[in-house]
Order: sequence, then structure tokens, then C-alpha cells
Amino acid sequence: MRRERGLLIVLSGPSGVGKGTVRKELFSQPNTNYEYSISTTTRAPREGEVDGADYFFKSREEFEQMIAEGKLLEYAEYVGNYYGTPLDYVNETLDAGRDVFLEIEVQGAAQVREKVKDGLFIFLAPPSLSELEQRLVGRGTETDEVIASRIQTARLELEMMNLYDFVVENDEVQLACDRINAIVTAEHCRRERV
Ligand code: 5GP
Repeated sequence: MRRERGLLIVLSGPSGVGKGTVRKELFSQPNTNYEYSISTTTRAPREGEVDGADYFFKSREEFEQMIAEGKLLEYAEYVGNYYGTPLDYVNETLDAGRDVFLEIEVQGAAQVREKVKDGLFIFLAPPSLSELEQRLVGRGTETDEVIASRIQTARLELEMMNLYDFVVENDEVQLACDRINAIVTAEHCRRERV
């Protein structure tokens, strides 16, 4: 038996836990059966990032216009920049029967939780807070001030873990991907859709 509408899969967790790395690894696998929703942000592109592939890069004015026009499923201001999920893409893809995968921070995930009651919410957890701090420092792409702010945010974000359907520890990227794929498969079986 198949459900008509696709499944909305939300991967969230603290900054630096490796959500981006896990998501890229998931989407590099040939058997990945879900569509990645490219977010929009006011953050400046990092070296190598491509508009329309990594993010849709917007000015604050453009982003605020999208908010005013109701074009975002969720959005959050995170360490001084806006990040949000384009609503139309998500709805159109789900309506077409395809699963959609969001990789977003926890404030945005909480908004989606309120709006999409049948979503699948997965929290990516670090093996420990000290390991998370090491990763935030080790990435080397941000200033000390931004890193300190992200660590503070991460402590609060970890407290949100209990609101999720599943917690996946990111001790090793491939293992985390395997666990996520297993959860999605199990969820489809639970909902009688394969
Ligand atoms: P970064 O600046 O490192 O690319 O992303 C910072 C944080 O924003 C990460 O935790 C990332 O998961 C999150 N993020 C990316 N896109 C979105 C989005 O559309 N909405 C929300 N709420 N968070 C997002």
C-alpha cells in the first residue's frame, strides 16, 4: 500500500555536530530516495559554495520580503543571519509523492514540528559536548567570537533532543547515515508505504 504524499524528514541538532557532512554523504549515495530542500540564507557564501546548490543566498531585504509573503515553511535567525526553508518546493515535492529532507537548526525544526504533524524528526547528537566544542573550533571557517556564540547555542540546542522522534549519534559519518536510512525505511514500513 502506498501513501500519496511524501514524507517530510527533518534532520536537526546542534551546530558543529556534522549535520552538513552527514547530509552531503547521504545525498552522495546512489540509492538515496529523498529530495534535499535547498535553504535560503542571508549568510555570505563560504569559499566554494554555489548559489542555488548550497543555499539560495539573499539580502536581508529579500529574505524579509519572503517572510512577509509567507514563502517560508520555517525560518530562524541564527548567529546573526537568517536561514529558511522555501515552502513551495517542499509542498510541491511532497505532493508529487517524493520524500523531502530538511537539514536545519533546532528553532526551525521546532516550527516545522508545530506545522507538519506527520513529519519525521531526527536529532543528530554529538558523542559528547567536549567533542562538539572541538569540532566547532576545528572547522576553522569562523572567527573566535562566532565559535563562542555557536558553542553557547549548542548547549541550549542539546536540551531540545527529547522533542524528536529519533536520536542518532554522529560518532562516525557512515554509521550515522546508515542509521538515518534505516529509520526512514522503518518509518515507511510503519506507515505502510515502501
Ligand atoms: P551554516 O552557516 O553552517 O551553513 O549553517 C548554520 C546552521 O543553520 C546549521 O545548523 C544549519 O543546519 C542551519 N540551517 C541551514 N539551513 C536552514 C534552514 O533553512 N532553516 C533553519 N532553521 N536552519 C537552517
